[in-house]
Amino acid sequence: MQPFAISVQNVHKSYGKTRAVNGLSFVVRQAECFGLLGPNGAGKTTMMAMMYGKAERDASPAGVIDVLGFDPQYNPLNVRHLLGVVPQDDNLDGELNVYQNLSLFAKFYGLSGNAAKAAIERLLETMELTDKKRSKIRELSGGMRRRLIIARALLNDPKILILDEPTTGLDPQVRHMIWDTLRLMKKNGITMLLSTHYMEEAFQLCDNLIIMHKGEKVIEGRPRELLDQSIEKYVLDIVNKEHEDRIKGYLDSPLIRADLSKETLHIYSNHIDTLNEIAARLEPGDYFLRAGNLEDLFIKATGRALDDPA
Ligand code: ADP
Repeated sequence: MQPFAISVQNVHKSYGKTRAVNGLSFVVRQAECFGLLGPNGAGKTTMMAMMYGKAERDASPAGVIDVLGFDPQYNPLNVRHLLGVVPQDDNLDGELNVYQNLSLFAKFYGLSGNAAKAAIERLLETMELTDKKRSKIRELSGGMRRRLIIARALLNDPKILILDEPTTGLDPQVRHMIWDTLRLMKKNGITMLLSTHYMEEAFQLCDNLIIMHKGEKVIEGRPRELLDQSIEKYVLDIVNKEHEDRIKGYLDSPLIRADLSKETLHIYSNHIDTLNEIAARLEPGDYFLRAGNLEDLFIKATGRALDDPA
C-alpha cells in the first residue's frame, strides 16, 4: 500500500486571469484528516474539484494529482469509485424523501436490492436519521440535510471522503454534531480531505493542514505544532481602542508583539502577567484575553483575517 492517499504536486488552475490555484503541493497520508484552511476565494473548492475530476488543472506547467494511484483527469471513473464527495452546495433532490435520495445514489454506484437496503439502513442509523427516512428534504433542518449528504457520500464505502466546507451556515451546536460524525469516520479509517474557513474546525479535526491564501500555500503542518512554534500562548484582543493611550507605554515592550493593523488591536505574549497588567488599565468590555489560535497564525502570515473579504 502506498503511504499516501493523495499527492498534489505543483498544481495550477486559472480562470482567465484569475489564478485560483497557484503552484500548490501537499501530500495526504492514509487515514488522516487533512485540512485546506483559508478565506473565501483562497482556491479550496477549485483544488477539491480537480481532485474528483470536476475541473481540469492547467496543462502548463503540468502538475501532478495522484489519488490512490489514479489521476482524476485521466481516470475519473476509477477515482470516483474511491471517493465520497460532500459538496458545498446542497444538491439533494427536493422531490424525493430521505430514503429515496440515498436509494437513487445507491443505483449510481451499482448497489441494488438487499445490498442497497442494508447500506442505506446502516448509514441512516450512523447519521441518526432513521426516524426521518420518509421525510421530504424540505422538512429537514440544515444539520439533518448535511448529515444526509455525508451519508450519501459514504454509500459506496469510499476510501477517501472529500468535504468542502461541511459546516458552513450551520449553527454551533449542529457544527459540533457534524464534527463528532467526522471523528467517527476517521476512527473507521477513512482518509479525509476537508476545506474550511473556520480555524476552530481545522484545529479540532485536522491531523495536518495547509493554510491557503490567493491560491497558494502559506503555511503547512500539524495544527498544535504550528501554534507552539509560531504563535505566542496568549492574546489580548482590544476591541475598543478609545482608551489606547493608557497602554501606549507597553507597546514597545520586548515581552509583547502588537498587531495594530486592524479594528481590533491584538497584543500577543507568552507572559500572561504582562497581558493582565495591560488589561488592568482598560475598562471591562474593552478587551478579551484568550489563547493564541490558527487565525492568529493566518494574520501573522498574510496580514489579514480569515473572514476578510477576498
Ligand atoms: P474558495 O473555495 O477558497 O472560496 P474558490 O476555489 O471557490 O475559493 O475560488 C478561487 C478563485 O477562483 C476565486 O477568485 C473565484 O472567484 C475563482 N473561481 C472559482 N471558480 C470559478 C469559475 N468557475 N470561473 C471563474 N472563476 C472562478
